[in-house]
Amino acid sequence: MANLESNNFSSETLALHAAYNYDSQRTLSVPIYQSTAYSFESIAQAAARFGLQELGNIYSRLTNPTVDVLAQRLAAVEGGAFGVATSSGSAALFYTFVNLAQNGDNILYANKIYGGTQTLLVHTLKRFGIEVRVFDVDNIASIEPLIDDKTKVIFFESLSNPQIAIPDIEAITAIAKKHKIITVCDNTVATPFLFRPFEHGIDISVSSLTKYVNGHGAGLGGVAVERDGLNALIKDNPRYPAFNTPDESYHGLVYSSLPLPNFGIRLITEWLRNIGATLAPQVAWIHLQGLETLELRIKRHSDSALKVAEFLESHPKVSKVDYPGLKSSPYNAKLKKYFVDSRASGLLNFEAQSYDAAKKICDTLKLYSITANIGDSKSLVIHPASTTHSQLSAKELESAGITPTGVRLSIGLENVDDLIADLKNAIES
Ligand SMILES: *Cc1c(COP(=O)(O)O)cnc(C)c1O
Repeated sequence: MANLESNNFSSETLALHAAYNYDSQRTLSVPIYQSTAYSFESIAQAAARFGLQELGNIYSRLTNPTVDVLAQRLAAVEGGAFGVATSSGSAALFYTFVNLAQNGDNILYANKIYGGTQTLLVHTLKRFGIEVRVFDVDNIASIEPLIDDKTKVIFFESLSNPQIAIPDIEAITAIAKKHKIITVCDNTVATPFLFRPFEHGIDISVSSLTKYVNGHGAGLGGVAVERDGLNALIKDNPRYPAFNTPDESYHGLVYSSLPLPNFGIRLITEWLRNIGATLAPQVAWIHLQGLETLELRIKRHSDSALKVAEFLESHPKVSKVDYPGLKSSPYNAKLKKYFVDSRASGLLNFEAQSYDAAKKICDTLKLYSITANIGDSKSLVIHPASTTHSQLSAKELESAGITPTGVRLSIGLENVDDLIADLKNAIES
């Protein structure tokens, strides 16, 4: 598999082979390089590596061979140019935001996103002097009035968790292109097998590996992947001075003068090097295992979720089902426009008849674990209003799209007839 050219093979193939050419023992499984540091051949080589004249390992806070296989394999699968892995999805998002914006800048973000990212944007980044401005993901006209010369990022999720919204992605990337602003898309729920971010004009794709990529609820991780050619958007762009002026913490290096992926290299040299939310090689290996079967699993998750959604929609004790794969969904047209084979992942929400009925369904289900997670091979259920979102006021619940009667499912890989029978029993008992 030497010299595997990423563009010549399909993503399913790349998920198994990209970025690994065998080590000296020719192990077929990617080795876990359990080492903190690396020996240099000479002081001259060490100096060249510290000065970025020669690329190579220095210390595992920055790079590690096992972690690099994962990051570059994910980049290849997604059709991007370069990936950087981190210890969690949240860390990948934080590093991406602060790599592009600093004190005095602003970031535009979609109203329907993951709760943890919302808190990161609204509360944590504020303490760093970064302002955030929310736009209505269902009303793209709300974006342009928010843009000024301090706007550095437009952020949204391709398939939002937990609202299951799909934005008009090409309308957003067109606005960003017009203003030369970088778009960042969280592709965690869709995965590269359902949504191809770089084919729709997105600049940077960030994912939590913790969910579908790992697929077995067995470890945290994150990745930020940049598209081919992002350097040209950064070069001499007044929005991104950190890439176009000398970095005093790195011998006066100007990142945009490097013939390397500017965004990713600076993510390593500035943020991983100085803060260190680095992925451990053992955990990277677990994600590599998950990635090998991601394509098979996400199809099965999606196909089973559609059957479950259709069952729920036909049940008299269920008033509403949110699933983009259903014709009744306001996002069905966007799913068909943007998603591979119109598959919509394993996430769905439905409305029980009352607050108490919703809780009772969760407690009665046998196959679904009551868990605050998604993307596991095992089916999961949660009642957000009494658990993950219980601290929110009624008004906040409404704006977050959470209802008192809502039940959220993450459909796993069990036999779908078993999953439907379990739901039927819980709803009717
Ligand atoms: C879980 C999740 C995150 C955060 O990822 P962690 O790996 O848990 O830090 C970010 N975005 C989305 C959409 C998620 O579902």
